[in-house]
Amino acid sequence: MLNIVLFGPPGSGKGTQSEKIIECYGLVHLSTGDLLRAEIANRTELGLRAQDIMQKGELVPDEIVIGMIENRIDGTADPNGFIFDGFPRTVEQAKALDGLLDKRGLEISFMVSMDVVRQELIDRLLKRGQDQGRSDDTLEVIENRIKVYENQTFPVMDYYKGTGKYRGVDGMGSIDDIFSRITEVIDN
Ligand code: ADP
Repeated sequence: MLNIVLFGPPGSGKGTQSEKIIECYGLVHLSTGDLLRAEIANRTELGLRAQDIMQKGELVPDEIVIGMIENRIDGTADPNGFIFDGFPRTVEQAKALDGLLDKRGLEISFMVSMDVVRQELIDRLLKRGQDQGRSDDTLEVIENRIKVYENQTFPVMDYYKGTGKYRGVDGMGSIDDIFSRITEVIDN
């Protein structure tokens, strides 16, 4: 099984590249952001809890996202593998993911980390805010999401470097150029 963590700051293109990876390698997409937005749309109790937190650009508690991921893994029959998008976002989540995969005889193959300069992130997210109207794509919330990423999520990279699973790719350039850098990593 090919289990990939797709990693990078908000606006680095995780969702866009996930779609292409899924199509090419037949993986199952697990995006905690998408799962949380679905909970909000369905007005579930979990969604109501998550809504205010996401609106401020803060992180939803670890146990909530870990539980969602665990349910999805167990609910997927006979997968070729998973692509984790927007998860893990804390070292706690990374450790929990390793533990729950291990219990099922699975493991992360590697982390693909996309590097994008800060001003480009802000420009892409502001544009998405205009095009798609995602309510957390406003300048104030974007700046907080990037700050939260630097403080709480960035250390996740060191966690994967420590296990030898970190693979860095340049996240600047065209969608196809970035995708071909990612396929090079996967195919090796
Ligand atoms: P982006 O990568 O552009 O920030 P996401 O859709 O991945 O967008 O996440 C949107 C929001 O959902 C985050 O700002 C956060 O509030 C919440 N969220 C998503 N994934 C997680 C996670 N693994 N842990 C905690 N909060 C999360």
